Amino acid sequence: MSLILDLIFPVNCCSCGQSGHYLCPACFSKISSQEIKGNSLSLFKYHSHIKKIISLYKYSFVTDVLSDLSTQVSLRLKSDYPNLVDYWQTKKYVITPIPLHLFRQNWRGFNQSALLSQKIAKNLGLSYSDSFLRRSQNRPPQAKLKDRSQRLLNLSQPFSLISPPPAHLILFDDVKTTSATLNSASQTIKKQHPQTDIFYLTLAG
Ligand SMILES: [Zn+2]
Repeated sequence: MSLILDLIFPVNCCSCGQSGHYLCPACFSKISSQEIKGNSLSLFKYHSHIKKIISLYKYSFVTDVLSDLSTQVSLRLKSDYPNLVDYWQTKKYVITPIPLHLFRQNWRGFNQSALLSQKIAKNLGLSYSDSFLRRSQNRPPQAKLKDRSQRLLNLSQPFSLISPPPAHLILFDDVKTTSATLNSASQTIKKQHPQTDIFYLTLAG
């Protein structure tokens, strides 16, 4: 299958053009990792290659790219943050993707953060769960709320908890544009389970 797809849609590195990878290991290795800040790690700066690769899987429906990316990200985590990975494994951290709005998931057909984090969890020997946190289902569309305070409330509660979270949790998102989404998800969890230990992991930001 993959061979047939390669013939129809040849895979080339988005940086150097070499075939076989969306971003080849040599080009990937030129993107340096960032430092851990407290309880969060944004693995890479929002580098142009990372931008390209993220736009590939977001807008071209290329799920192969997710395999490629998750493998290289996992290798990078193991090589550059061995103590952190060791700590996650010892404490049995569970990786959880930030849920997408249902309509966006349907439009794309998949939640790219879910697929990525599932593969990363597997590569690192960690558990994965996407069953306790949801986007709030019955948020009325923003435009239909005339009252300003209603609109703010609507924006401030995008997540809901549907079952107890694991004790140690890695919240995963592909791109950290602002910290607002991660903070909001974290607040939703901590409101009911204040002891939950939450680490933020993003690929770029
Ligand atoms: Zn390359």
